Amino acid sequence: MVGERRRWLLGALAAAPVALGGAAPLAAFAAAEARVRERVHPGDPGWPGEAEWQRLNAAVGGALVKVASPFAACRDDPRSPACDALFRSPANPWAIGDDVALTQTFGWVGAWTTSPSAYAVVAKGAADVAAAVDFARERRVRLVVKGGGHSYQGTSNAPDSLLVWTRRMNDVRIDDAFVAANCAGRVAPQRAVHCGAGAVWAQVYDAVTTKGGGYVQGGGCTTVGVAGLVQSGGFGSFSKAFGTAAGSLLEAEVVTADGKIRICNACTNEDLFWALKGGGGGNFAVVTRLTLKVHPLPQTFGAVNVTVRATSDAAYRKLIALTLDFCAGTLVGPHWGEQLRFLRSNALQVAMVFQGLTRSEAVAAWQPFFAAIDAGPADFDLEFSPLRIVSTDARTFWAPTLFKRTLGFIRRDDRPGAPETNVFWPGDQAQAAQVLHGYESLWLPAALLQPARRGDLAEAVFAATRHWYVSLHLNKGLAGAPAPALAAARDTATNPVMLDAFALAILGAHGGPAHPAVPGHTPDEALARTQAAAIERAAAALRKVAPDGGAYVSESNYFQRDWQRAFWGTNAARLRAIKATVDPDGLFVTHHGPADEA
Ligand SMILES: Cc1cc2nc3c(=O)[nH]c(=O)nc-3n(C[C@H](O)[C@H](O)[C@H](O)COP(=O)(O)OP(=O)(O)OC[C@H]3O[C@@H](n4cnc5c(N)ncnc54)[C@H](O)[C@@H]3O)c2cc1C
Repeated sequence: MVGERRRWLLGALAAAPVALGGAAPLAAFAAAEARVRERVHPGDPGWPGEAEWQRLNAAVGGALVKVASPFAACRDDPRSPACDALFRSPANPWAIGDDVALTQTFGWVGAWTTSPSAYAVVAKGAADVAAAVDFARERRVRLVVKGGGHSYQGTSNAPDSLLVWTRRMNDVRIDDAFVAANCAGRVAPQRAVHCGAGAVWAQVYDAVTTKGGGYVQGGGCTTVGVAGLVQSGGFGSFSKAFGTAAGSLLEAEVVTADGKIRICNACTNEDLFWALKGGGGGNFAVVTRLTLKVHPLPQTFGAVNVTVRATSDAAYRKLIALTLDFCAGTLVGPHWGEQLRFLRSNALQVAMVFQGLTRSEAVAAWQPFFAAIDAGPADFDLEFSPLRIVSTDARTFWAPTLFKRTLGFIRRDDRPGAPETNVFWPGDQAQAAQVLHGYESLWLPAALLQPARRGDLAEAVFAATRHWYVSLHLNKGLAGAPAPALAAARDTATNPVMLDAFALAILGAHGGPAHPAVPGHTPDEALARTQAAAIERAAAALRKVAPDGGAYVSESNYFQRDWQRAFWGTNAARLRAIKATVDPDGLFVTHHGPADEA
């Protein structure tokens, strides 16, 4: 069976119009695009009739649902309790995730607005997914896939489509001696976790860390979907130690555009496996199961939270410079992750985490930084916080302990009867039901921290903050990571510039829950335009020192220029070729996919 699967891909490659690594003929993609436009819509003569939908419903064991737009009901009665709940802020990310009609981001001004599918298959397993894929291909219905629903780009929703919704496929199971199919004798058995494609990271962390005492590399946000994050590349708070989520993928079960269920790993369907590791969610196949490496769990995790205010522009320049000095000397290594935020108000917010250090080791590591701040009382104000540096037994990091709940470090899904493991970080809650105004990301090479370049970097950060605040996500650039983490990340489709970057700079702006069609709840378009322009100017200031900084596929500008090079760098051509091979008719469509025309 496995041999048959591998022959399928090799055969397809032989028949492909290009060799791997070559440029696919434009005509092939123009034809694929034309086929996309040929998709049928409700009211078209080709739109499936009721009997056909019922046949699909029977094929998936009654798992087909007709989706109604909650926004349409709200438009008719904007003062109804249902409408209030929809636009409630802060929103509950778990409740949004459980609604087939919603996405975590409600839209992006000038780009997209959340729009439910016409029908959804609430899939229970790969066979349901295969039936949906066959139906969409044969009836020329637009197909879309949603897991955790966290796409900023709106790629898990499409109006008039058939949705494959994986939310219920959320089994998580640890395997103490996993060997990928066809890899016996080539790879030693290892501890791994099997995740249904609809699982979100909180569910995986609960099974692997809280219950299993291990570590799996997932995302920072606990409600992000496993399948979506792995296909993004995927960075978590401790990626500087463990690499990307894609780098930890050992095997995936997928349904390809021809409706076949296939296994992909390092020994079977290798090219598709590689494309799934960072090639962007929803571009190559529907993933139905993922198996990820389980790493040994460090003893401790901890956090450093502090705000320093500079008293003038000149003092802020000094603060940026001394922060980058400290970063270069201490933070570019496996112990550290998360963010240094340089605000427009001449303040620095430190929101860092650490692993594998005791609290006193972390305090000692930060002592030179605090000493430098204390040495400039006329220039800097350090906000007092009794919980400036905290640590915890790593095993309880994602557990909703009373201590963490009382101090507001972690929140729980507040719906009656919700599992107590439905947790999220308070810092992520503002993004639930958000409408994006603007976004940019770029990787900053570690070479910029060399003494000769550090001044230029500091000046670029200062210049950027005249327009918008800059968050340096140290965990999303892998410079300083251990060799195995780097090797695994190198064997993925993500832009290789992330390997030598000390951080991913992210600049974003959003408003609260809004929808253009609901009176009283429309987005503030003028504000959005102003903020998007400010973000663009700030990013341009950073790109002066990092012109080849690319962008992270899942955390990037909807209007990203030259996106294939930005997202995938030197891997873009190979991805295009694989797309042409495994999905020649363009069944899987996303915004800015690897085969789209620039
Ligand atoms: C609040 C928030 C925090 C975030 N934090 C992080 C972070 O810490 N690190 C990081 O790296 N990224 C982060 N992201 C980005 C996130 O990883 C990506 O947006 C990711 O793709 C979301 O996956 P999802 O399943 O939740 O979303 P979805 O919107 O459901 O899916 C995203 C894409 O993947 C496709 N997809 C989903 N499931 C499948 C499947 N089973 N088979 C094939 N395609 C599928 C969808 O079609 C869509 O194109 C964050 C995003 C948000 C909104």
